[in-house]
Amino acid sequence: MTGPSIAIIGTGFGGIGMAIRLKQAGIDSFTIYSKASDIGGVWWANSYPGAACDVPSSLYSYSFEKHFEWLRTHGTQPEILAYLRHCVAKYGIGPAIRFNTEIATADFDAAAALWRLHATDGRRFEASILVSACGLFNQPAYPDIEGAADFAGTSFHSACWNQAFDFAGKRVAVIGTGCSAAQFVPEIADKVGKLTAFLRTPQYIVPKQEKVYSAEERQRFQRHPLLRSLDRIKTYITFERRFRVQTDENIRRAAEQASLAFLAREITDPAKRAKLTPTYRFGCKRTIQSNTYLAALNRDNVEIVNTAIARIVPEGIVTADGTLHPLDAIIYGTGFKPTEYLSPLRVTGLGGRVLDEAWRRGAEAYLGITVAGFPNFFMIYGPNTNTANSIVVMIEGQISYILKCIRRLARKRARFMTVRAEVQARFNEELQRVIRGTVWGSGCRAYFVNAAGRVVTQWPKPSRLYRWATRKVRPQDFSFTT
Ligand SMILES: Cc1cc2nc3c(=O)[nH]c(=O)nc-3n(C[C@H](O)[C@H](O)[C@H](O)COP(=O)(O)OP(=O)(O)OC[C@H]3O[C@@H](n4cnc5c(N)ncnc54)[C@H](O)[C@@H]3O)c2cc1C
Repeated sequence: MTGPSIAIIGTGFGGIGMAIRLKQAGIDSFTIYSKASDIGGVWWANSYPGAACDVPSSLYSYSFEKHFEWLRTHGTQPEILAYLRHCVAKYGIGPAIRFNTEIATADFDAAAALWRLHATDGRRFEASILVSACGLFNQPAYPDIEGAADFAGTSFHSACWNQAFDFAGKRVAVIGTGCSAAQFVPEIADKVGKLTAFLRTPQYIVPKQEKVYSAEERQRFQRHPLLRSLDRIKTYITFERRFRVQTDENIRRAAEQASLAFLAREITDPAKRAKLTPTYRFGCKRTIQSNTYLAALNRDNVEIVNTAIARIVPEGIVTADGTLHPLDAIIYGTGFKPTEYLSPLRVTGLGGRVLDEAWRRGAEAYLGITVAGFPNFFMIYGPNTNTANSIVVMIEGQISYILKCIRRLARKRARFMTVRAEVQARFNEELQRVIRGTVWGSGCRAYFVNAAGRVVTQWPKPSRLYRWATRKVRPQDFSFTT
């Protein structure tokens, strides 16, 4: 074993990428823990029909592993999972993974300069460095509806899809209007007897610029790997430009009009269209990209209900107007709890300080990676690092930064390093100031705003500025303990 002991939590893009880059740097003293029984993170957990990425695979892939035989421009869930399996096998990190190991607590022991980890099944581990790659979308959110437990039919969340459920001829309700619902509704609408879509907040939808590669195109990518690299650069520039929707009112309005025109083309019934017309500002939520969702909602066997749900009874859903909607199944397409970072993992730093308490007003970190008072603790996809661009680009910036921190610790012969509180505070004040100038800061009600109204998940600038900010570790930002 070479290098300090490193515990990585998570086997999604973050954890796998971190392990590969450590190995490439000649450090193999790491162990990866995952509560799941397989690799893939969200791309393992979300196996609902139609699950796919809204960023083209040329960009939604590691920069060090660009060449994979993608069948289409945008990877589907099985393809992305196959890509991650390919990476794990190619770089030989499988033996370092401990599946079915949910870390419940992580406590920093300053005297020993060790993180002491406690798994939910009682096992204990320790490491000098702790890297959390727990992801943002691993806690499914269920709406708090009276009587939900009494429902006599089948019910499940999109992140825990019931693969055995036979949809043929069934009366199915879908609660939720986000990206997942937009992907699975077209896959089941033509199978069910009736689909009732409970849409409290209709969302902006735009066409998805996707296609299946022809055999010739796939061969061309294989023969000329440079083409894939060029496609990656082109896609990156396109996605960076899209950020302007957040800050430029003219661009935002034009995008809003284009989305409403798409709605008008796809939904022929004016009453249905009215129910599907968003009432919030474009850009407030992640825009749905789909060529099939609106067409599915336009079907005769699909009813749109925008009356509030009053309660769930054994026979179905009762809306606020007293109507009973009889059902065989309810699918919760209600997303996740991204503002509850790391939850339910309990992390305790210097002086017994608990991270959840430090984050009472909302999660925050320096560069989304480190938190004052929590030495040698690094996060991947931490607070305010979510973007509309490829998350993998952000994750790679974080991995490089963490690697540099690990090298810095070795060079300084320090036992641990922690970011200075004033550096973290200054960084977050500036971040929140920038957020106030974006659509996100204009009072949106979205998954990235916490209960106190603070935007805790979004990076409010183009992703290249994040990569620039994380390109080097400034030693003056940290205190080192030798
Ligand atoms: C349905 C869906 C679609 C998405 N589509 C896109 C997209 O189109 N474009 C895009 O850029 N992003 C998309 N995302 C965001 C996606 O989360 C990121 O792109 C990326 O996959 C995050 O990788 P990650 O490794 O950080 O987290 P995850 O993939 O969430 O992995 C987290 C890992 O941590 C493990 N874990 C968590 N807590 C513990 C614990 N306490 N102990 C042990 N193990 C633990 C989990 O088991 C898992 O292995 C999507 C997310 C979802 C849910």
